[in-house]
Amino acid sequence: MEIILGRTAGFCYGVKNAVENVKKELEKQDKLYCLGELVHNSVVIEKLEKSGLITIDKIEKAKGNVVIRAHGVQKQIYEKAKQMGINVLDYTCPNVLKIHKTVEEYANKGFYVILIGAKTHAENIGTISFCTKNSGIIENEEEINKVVEDVNKSDCKNVLIIVQTTFGFEKFNKYVEKIIKGIRNKEIIVKNTICNATKVRQEETAQIAKRVEAMIIIGGKKSSNTQKLYDIAKRYCNNTQIVEKREELNNSIIENVKKIGIMAGASTPKESINEVIESIQEQIGKPKNRK
Ligand code: SF4
Repeated sequence: MEIILGRTAGFCYGVKNAVENVKKELEKQDKLYCLGELVHNSVVIEKLEKSGLITIDKIEKAKGNVVIRAHGVQKQIYEKAKQMGINVLDYTCPNVLKIHKTVEEYANKGFYVILIGAKTHAENIGTISFCTKNSGIIENEEEINKVVEDVNKSDCKNVLIIVQTTFGFEKFNKYVEKIIKGIRNKEIIVKNTICNATKVRQEETAQIAKRVEAMIIIGGKKSSNTQKLYDIAKRYCNNTQIVEKREELNNSIIENVKKIGIMAGASTPKESINEVIESIQEQIGKPKNRK
């Protein structure tokens, strides 16, 4: 049996930067507050919490300092932290900061901003806070008509279409085509802000899934990019499973297969990937091959 491990599996540079900086800070201080989970991965969080990281759901609960995670936060949080005299350790990924800057700039110029992405995802909650009331989020195809209707009714002459960094590439193109068809008499600018790390990972997932008989996606249950990798893999390999830890591995999917593919989300640590591979090797008793 051959195991094909994706080269892009595991931490993206935004998450890596945030986690490494938090580790360094925890060497200097006993306690560090983080607004929301630093990454959507319970294995990483549990370890950091043992070293003093305290996850809070409101900025009001922070004392002395607060970590802003890679997904970024709403504009008001920076203002609130300033009022409270809290030191902000801002580890927002540069790609997300760029989106904030872009939407703010276009919103100030009077553009209607359409953001494609999940409504409840922290990144998008942050992004939309940098827009004016002339903005809307499209999470799924059914919501396109409603937002397009709002755009057509608005006084805005121009429209900016932007997208969550971890959104699916094919879906984004499909939605944009539909949105453009529906908008009347307005100038439209489309900015594909899906981050390159996400794009490459999604492409690699599809390539591997096409070649294997079973596919395992490793990542947190709340991780939207992991869920997207699962959807992509499932399209090409029906025998696909998503796991966060080795204990969740369903061994029946790797029985009697010759090739297994492995991919992991942007917030999955190396340890989790290695543990899952070890577990598979214990089942099949063979060494791993890298792609
Ligand atoms: S997925 Fe992309 S945008 Fe998001 S944190 Fe990672 S590198 Fe940054």
